[in-house]
Formats: sequence, C-alpha cells, structure tokens
Amino acid sequence: MIKILKNIFQLLFGVDSKSKRKKTKYKKPPIYFESVTVVNKTPSNHEVLDRVFIVVTFQCKPIWALFRCPCGCQHVISLSLQRIHKTFWKVNLNKEQRPTLNPSVWQIEKCHSHFWVKDGRIYWV
Ligand SMILES: [Zn+2]
Repeated sequence: MIKILKNIFQLLFGVDSKSKRKKTKYKKPPIYFESVTVVNKTPSNHEVLDRVFIVVTFQCKPIWALFRCPCGCQHVISLSLQRIHKTFWKVNLNKEQRPTLNPSVWQIEKCHSHFWVKDGRIYWV
C-alpha cells in the first residue's frame, strides 16, 4: 500500500531531476527527513514525530505538509500544498524519496526559524 502511495506521489509531483546537476562546494548539512510519509487523514500534533515529513492527501491530491520544526522547539509546522491558498508550498521528491520544499519556511511566531528543505536536508537562512 505504501509503495502504491509513493508511486502516486511521484506521479503527482514528479521526481526532482535538477537536484543532481549542481555540485555544491560547501559541505551539505546532514539528512534530516529520510523520506516522506503519505497519509490520507490529518494526524493530530502528538502523532507528528521528530524528523518525519508527513504529506496529507485528499482524493489523491496533496493538501498539507506537516512536520516538527527542525530547530527543536517541538512546534508542529503545517503548510498548505493547495494552490487555492494565497500562500502554498510545493513538495518535490528526489530519487531517494527525500523531500524538497519551495519556497522556504519562515516561522513568523515563536522560534522565528527560517530554513529551506532541500533533498531532506535543512538549510538555515
Ligand atoms: Zn522552531
């Protein structure tokens, strides 16, 4: 079942093929999100575990991305993946199934974290 969902997910988002093109000179940060967990029901906050990137789907469409703030503040960040919202994010998967988020995430309240998620790695701004 998970495999089928993954395939659907790949169809929806495509595989990020650009990620290999650029060779970065600096050392990459460690991998934070190893994979993406696709669910069809929004989990409650306590079900969102550390370092788990959750995508909630509805009728096979991705609608929310949820994960705990990587700064360690335990805040659950939920991002809309729906175009109908004024602010929405795009999730791409690389071939190892690790997520890339666009645009960056900026917590305007609480911890004020500002970071990019790229290939499952956290790039702090
Ligand atoms: Zn935080």
